[in-house]
Amino acid sequence: MKKILLVVCILSFAVGAQADFGRKLLNKDNVTAAQNAVKAATLSDDDMAKLSRQAVATMDEQNPVVADGDSLAKRFNNIVKGLQSEDGLELNFKLYNVADVNAFATPDGSIRVMAGLMIIMTDDEVRSVIGHEIGHVKLQHAKKQYQKAYSVAAGKDAVAASSGTGGKVLTESQLGTFIEDVLNAKFSRGDESASDEYGFNFMVKHGYDYHAMEGAFSKLADLGGDDGKKSLKATHPGAAERAKVAKERADAQDEKMKQARR
Ligand SMILES: [Zn+2]
Repeated sequence: MKKILLVVCILSFAVGAQADFGRKLLNKDNVTAAQNAVKAATLSDDDMAKLSRQAVATMDEQNPVVADGDSLAKRFNNIVKGLQSEDGLELNFKLYNVADVNAFATPDGSIRVMAGLMIIMTDDEVRSVIGHEIGHVKLQHAKKQYQKAYSVAAGKDAVAASSGTGGKVLTESQLGTFIEDVLNAKFSRGDESASDEYGFNFMVKHGYDYHAMEGAFSKLADLGGDDGKKSLKATHPGAAERAKVAKERADAQDEKMKQARR
């Protein structure tokens, strides 16, 4: 299977829902396949869980994980300690040894963080990103995205579905297409905002420094250089605005806590 590029959600700001996804579909065959598939292939919760685990297992196989003794791994393990059961979700975490400044979540509650993000962010900034990712799981954005990508991948050759292929929901070749689609898909602006808010509340709830979310977005906004499409600044145009919203939330929270102390 060809190497899978990790170009994902975290702080991406698509203008209009699934812009990238839509672009990919602007090919007659795919559009037809997708239309057929939407009717034919709605995943049950059980199959969604299976598909999600299947996709994560493949990504975990294809991406190196930071070795346990490494100082980045120690920081990461400390950050995610106690988060395996969170807000009614069962979560699991891995740190990929990949330079990208990124993170993603899958519907089954697998959260994956890239070493590049750990390197430029403080622990609390990483926590704010993790909180944001948990939001995509809890608010079922990841599930929605998987359902869409599934419809396309399965539609290409009328479905392995739950019936066959040794408990696997997609065949190996379908899975390749599927993973590429979910990794390239962007969440809608509304979903991103909702996850930002969720992430902020996550910080407050755990007593982490809730000002850190502003820091995380500011760092993303400052990233860049001009390597065209690969520039995070190019692919994450909303970061500066979202830093501003995060700051407003944090200031309001400061005020709230000041009032409560009076
Ligand atoms: Zn996101």
